[in-house]
Amino acid sequence: METIARTKIVDVLKSEAFGTKVNVKGWVRTRRGSKQVNFIALNDGSTINNVQIVVDIEKFGEDYLKPITTGACINVNGILVESQGQGQKGEIQATEIEIYGTADPATYPLQKKGHSLEFLREIAHLRPRTNTFGAVFRIRHHMAIAIHQFFHDRGFFYFHTPIITASDCEGAGQMFQVTTMDLNQIPRTEDGSVDFSEDFFGKQASLTVSGQLEGELAAMALGAIYTFGPTFRAENSNTPRHLSEFWMIEPEVAFNEIEENMQLAEDFIKYCIQWALDNCMEDIQFLNNMFDKGLIDRLHFVLKENFIRLTYTEGVKILEEAVANGRKFEFPIFWGADLASEHERYLVEEHFKCPVILTDYPKEIKSFYMKQNDDDKTVRAMDVLFPKIGEIIGGSQREEDLDKLARRAQEMGVPAKDIWWYLDTRRFGTAPHSGFGLGFERLLLFVTGMANIRDVIPFPRTPNNADF
Ligand code: ATP
Ligand code: MN
Repeated sequence: METIARTKIVDVLKSEAFGTKVNVKGWVRTRRGSKQVNFIALNDGSTINNVQIVVDIEKFGEDYLKPITTGACINVNGILVESQGQGQKGEIQATEIEIYGTADPATYPLQKKGHSLEFLREIAHLRPRTNTFGAVFRIRHHMAIAIHQFFHDRGFFYFHTPIITASDCEGAGQMFQVTTMDLNQIPRTEDGSVDFSEDFFGKQASLTVSGQLEGELAAMALGAIYTFGPTFRAENSNTPRHLSEFWMIEPEVAFNEIEENMQLAEDFIKYCIQWALDNCMEDIQFLNNMFDKGLIDRLHFVLKENFIRLTYTEGVKILEEAVANGRKFEFPIFWGADLASEHERYLVEEHFKCPVILTDYPKEIKSFYMKQNDDDKTVRAMDVLFPKIGEIIGGSQREEDLDKLARRAQEMGVPAKDIWWYLDTRRFGTAPHSGFGLGFERLLLFVTGMANIRDVIPFPRTPNNADF
């Protein structure tokens, strides 16, 4: 075969260099045609669009073309010609075709017909080859770039917090333990409890549920940082919005108070959505047509609205009024209750019809590190609530007063000996500061319009599922 430098299909489809020789490589989506001529739709992942390869059957022979079925991988030399069909500029008239790998139609699971998302989860190793998951994972990439760009442009530093941690400081969520102990022969102390001093780290260790506490240490030195890394929660919650392993972005900013924190969160999400519209429109358009006809409208809608800001107390009042007027919820609503997703979505989708930032939650339902308000009942928390999702961001202004922080930690059962290093930030040069956590996959749910969080991460980990 003649050696011609490969062109990605995304570039071939933009090219108007008709009459020139090109090389493309990719996976066959379909092959169809007549006795004289075949049309191969070829995709290489660089774009959702396929390039059409026109094949003169006489030139290659029926037998040679036979193994070129859906899923096969081929290497094609040909002449770029102006397309007869509509929708794309060019197509390739094949001069040489090498078959890299066949895909036996009897066993290749991704045939032409549409497959359910549930079925595709069972073949997560192959689903990136579908239009849907190609689109989702390209968008996922672009969103990661958007996030780094947003913070980089604003002078934030990307800070890496540990994944293995020896303190359950968040107090939130159950943690996955990390151990090298032989589970059949667990070393015990005299009183019979597990002797973690014998374990790898000499103490009990787990996978992180949040990089925030370490992020705060960095903010108290670098001024403004963000983390972006894997996060683990061992909660047994089988919902369309929870993963056992997900990615979280956590900015932390010295001298920011809650208002600036809210503005940062709003600007950040809007930036990411705008980026998606600017860089991923073909993929979004596809998902819009396929799954969620309201997707593009919703993205534009969020961009132009100012997020409604109100307190938890005001939010609960609205929900209580709704209940009084006959609205049914699965979970009870009263001041002090942790809002369920149905409550959050009622505020966003039915009451305000706009993203909402709820602030000043009861201290009992929030973490020990949140700044305490003077009312002695609430803390300076903020949750950003989104249509179709509920909570997309959770954050707060942090308690900067050492005594108040230490007291609250004790009240909530966080041992001071575990967080001495965290308390040191309040001991030495403390400052007001704020931050939040955005669940990357929740953002992707919103941007892609997918309904289940398992469909926006390549290899989802959920209770009873760690395949691939
Ligand atoms: P939820 O109430 O929805 O379970 P949370 O309040 O426990 O979330 P935080 O501890 O505030 O979550 O975490 C910050 C952000 O991380 C959340 O706003 C959400 O976007 C995301 N997040 C939290 N838990 C998960 C999870 N299990 N899977 C995916 N994303 C998550
Ligand atoms: Mn939260």
